[in-house]
Amino acid sequence: MPAVPRTVTRFAPSPTGGLHLGGVYSALFARRVARAANGSYLVRIEDIDATRCRPEYAERMLADLEWLGLAGDVRPERRQSRHLGDYRAALRRLRDRSLVYPCFCSRADIRREIEAAGAAPHGPDGPVYPGICRAIPAAEAEVRLMSGEAAAWRLDMAAAVATAGPLTFNDKARGRVACAPARFGDVVLARKDTPTGYHLSVTLDDAAQGVTVVTRGEDLLASTDIHRLLQGLLNLPEPEYWHHPLLCGPDGKRFAKRDKSVSVPDMRAAGYGAEAIREMAECLAGGNGGIPTL
Ligand code: GLU
Repeated sequence: MPAVPRTVTRFAPSPTGGLHLGGVYSALFARRVARAANGSYLVRIEDIDATRCRPEYAERMLADLEWLGLAGDVRPERRQSRHLGDYRAALRRLRDRSLVYPCFCSRADIRREIEAAGAAPHGPDGPVYPGICRAIPAAEAEVRLMSGEAAAWRLDMAAAVATAGPLTFNDKARGRVACAPARFGDVVLARKDTPTGYHLSVTLDDAAQGVTVVTRGEDLLASTDIHRLLQGLLNLPEPEYWHHPLLCGPDGKRFAKRDKSVSVPDMRAAGYGAEAIREMAECLAGGNGGIPTL
């Protein structure tokens, strides 16, 4: 019998502000799933977006997690901004197989094209990219890149789906889920200002860190289709998934990150203790699917 891999889960916040109760719940969830299987729980800082993430937010988040008793089992925590070379290399592999293409469009270019066409199909993340730059001949694209024109890199979705074939994933709360990544269209894998993007780096990191159960909020459920596709294309192992419900306030509405009442730094400054904050997150989760009893 092949050895069953040791369970590894993760909490992967983006340091765009202070830790909030939704994050505390996500961390508790990831840690509980790991502990129940005698496995490891990792914390990873997803700080590739230089315009929104700040090092001081990352430091504060790690300090607050530590204070809450929710620091990861492995130190130092992986920080995506220190692994740009890995993402670049994976993008290169996709580029060598013509599965990605450079996109020179500005947001305004895309908007104009969609308006001119009268409509655009809507994907889970908004209007689907109308494919403007897919039609640029490779030699012309090369010249524009060589001349220093900024480009994002988009996945050629039709080619990618044809290469990878049908895909599914196992969600511990939902069972086998069939993937339908094509509904996203040609997603951006690397942005103009950084050699990667959320989908590429999250997929590569979960594989690099040996994550066996990807624990995260159900707002990211649809994205998993893209991550499974990238795993197929890059020959990465298939983890299991556990998308948990998002934390809601007593009024049943989702907390927003800007909501001061759920900011850990603010609650800490107001005198709440670590246990009280953990209990608050668990209690609010109780009315919303809850943290699984394992
Ligand atoms: N960094 C993402 C966020 O803070 C979460 C990514 C993930 O869990 O896959 O929303």
